[in-house]
Amino acid sequence: MTLQQIESFAAGAWIAPGEGARLIRSAVTGAPMAEAGNDALDVAAMLDHARSRGGPALRAMSFHDRARMIKALAIEIGKHKQALYDISFATGATQKDHLIDIDGGIGTMFVFASKGRRELPDGHVYLDGDVEQLSRNGTFLGQHICTPMQGVAVHINAFNFPVWGMLEKLAPTLLAGVPAIVKPATASCYVTEACVRIMLQSGLLPDGALQLVSGGLGDMLGRLSCQDVVSFTGSAWTANKLRSAPHIIENSIRFVSEQDSLNASILGPDAEPGTPEFDLFVKEVHREMTTKAGQKCTAIRRIIAPEAQVPALIEAISARLAKTTIGDPALESTRMGALVSASQKRDVLEQAAVIGREAERVFGDPESFSVEGADAEAGAFVPPMLFHCADPDSAERVHDTEAFGPVSTIMGYRDIGHAVELANKGMGSLVASVITHDPAAAREIALGTAAFHGRLYFNNRDSMKESTGHGSPLPHMVHGGPGRAGGGEEMGGIRGVMHYMQRTAVQGSPDILTAIGGNWVPGAKELEAPAHPFTRKFGELVIGETIHSPSRQITLADIEQFAEFTGDTFYAHMDEDAAAANPFFPGRVAHGYLLLSFAAGLFVEPNPGPVLANTGLDGLRFMKPVSAGDSIKVRLTVKKKTGRNEEYGEVRWHVTLTNQEDELVAEYELLTMNAH
Ligand code: NDP
Repeated sequence: MTLQQIESFAAGAWIAPGEGARLIRSAVTGAPMAEAGNDALDVAAMLDHARSRGGPALRAMSFHDRARMIKALAIEIGKHKQALYDISFATGATQKDHLIDIDGGIGTMFVFASKGRRELPDGHVYLDGDVEQLSRNGTFLGQHICTPMQGVAVHINAFNFPVWGMLEKLAPTLLAGVPAIVKPATASCYVTEACVRIMLQSGLLPDGALQLVSGGLGDMLGRLSCQDVVSFTGSAWTANKLRSAPHIIENSIRFVSEQDSLNASILGPDAEPGTPEFDLFVKEVHREMTTKAGQKCTAIRRIIAPEAQVPALIEAISARLAKTTIGDPALESTRMGALVSASQKRDVLEQAAVIGREAERVFGDPESFSVEGADAEAGAFVPPMLFHCADPDSAERVHDTEAFGPVSTIMGYRDIGHAVELANKGMGSLVASVITHDPAAAREIALGTAAFHGRLYFNNRDSMKESTGHGSPLPHMVHGGPGRAGGGEEMGGIRGVMHYMQRTAVQGSPDILTAIGGNWVPGAKELEAPAHPFTRKFGELVIGETIHSPSRQITLADIEQFAEFTGDTFYAHMDEDAAAANPFFPGRVAHGYLLLSFAAGLFVEPNPGPVLANTGLDGLRFMKPVSAGDSIKVRLTVKKKTGRNEEYGEVRWHVTLTNQEDELVAEYELLTMNAH
């Protein structure tokens, strides 16, 4: 039988396996199927290719260009996903598992593409936070900026999610403007390789933006610099070995790690048998134990329940597990496939035996279970195994041993404080879930456990129909955890992009900050508009373009008319004595909304033109009250422009209202959509 040759993509060329290649066997049959790895891979040339070609090309693109590219890549992978499903069965995964890995990965790309367009500027610099006032007169200001790292991101991924594991790291990396070298786990690298081919063949990626190492990395990590990032998912053992290498420490090379995790799920004290929460809990536990045959970094390893409910739970979970058909993952009837390899099977059985020293196995026997459509001995099959730990306080191994398969341990708690203590005994995890309909219990558990967990997932009868599942990391939310889980964070929307960017505090004058950040900063030069800015198209408007309106006097009749017209007869506008008694007002004052309306009347250009709509107003502050007899005038400046689509873009205007003494009355940012 010919072995499939799983290639690497290095410095623009596909490299076949060579000296040092490793054999890959089917998880289902145990038969040799492929080989990957080549000791002669020129890792120095790969790094150079990424740094000299991929990085500059990506950095020349704006955030929005890169977001559009990520979306197009997701569409391209989606077109070929059947091919990825077909080859993924050999990893032991079922069709349902493929949806998590392949469709989940594509979905993650879409979310990052969309967030990139909505939350990042159509430029090259991301501004982190507001301008800081560092001087009395505002001539010296501060602003934090984020720019792409000028090196390469090396992604070392785990075997369990060959597609999602790559894409959830790749999307934020590319969005940041950093090229990636992806190194999947060898056991399932044939799926990753196929997905990389789809992306490269699309022609959407600049040269050098994506390279692939199938097999070992050689001495690549020893050649990294302070501009490079390592993002790792796998075992704590490997993570610790790699991150503690002197070269990594001496050069302060960023190392993002997501590793072992003893995730817990807590059944709330209110969730007795017969409640929707009890049934939901059983369903979630069963799903987490059996999806991907329990090979999920977020799977529930510890089931923490009120002591009185433990027997009923063991019975209910066992009943569901008993109905789980184990077998050839390609069969439609199969609910749980195989582990990824024989060595993982050995490892899981060893770890289960360790847990077995402190807990009694109450369901599942690795010596006796049936497998449909495949040979239980030849394939890496194990049955789901449920343990019961009667003394979780003195037990240690159940809280620190990750059997990376369908293995979970149930333990009882006396009260909420005890449940919190047990959950935190995992010493840092990716996720803990709490199934309760009692908000007070949820709050107590959240305050007690949040510091130990990267994500807390609450579910009950109100949210269960739309909830996303204990085990699903979402691109919008952070994925990672303290302590045993590696101390890292991935995704979390734009937070995840920041792992591949450098935050820099920039200090200088308003003109300097405006030039660097691309956003007009108050105090910077005002440009005189050649015509009213509302008559100018999106593309014609220039950052800093400003108009000053004539002034308008506010009369008592204006205030009374506005009050009568709108119904806003609040005493501060209508009752001189009551208003004067208020420490904020000298007497009756104009409504803030009256001032805003008059401001619009002062700056607007009424004829049809490129301004399509006023879509919002941000950061409104009223600084000084305006009384009858005072007058106001407006300054309107183009602060920021963000392209939205082919037809229009968003313009953010900085607006100030001042009185006859040139004192600031109000300040805000106005948003309009302007035609191109
Ligand atoms: P490993 O830590 O051995 O491998 C993870 C990744 O690191 C793989 O891509 C692997 O490549 C790579 N790797 C290993 N050694 C080196 C090295 N010296 N230099 C560079 N890269 C290296 O974990 P496994 O995937 O084998 O899984 C083992 C255990 O890890 C599981 O049983 C489970 O307990 C835990 N795990 C935890 C996860 C979590 O997120 N909680 C996720 C996955 C696994 P290669 O495959 O080529 O060796």
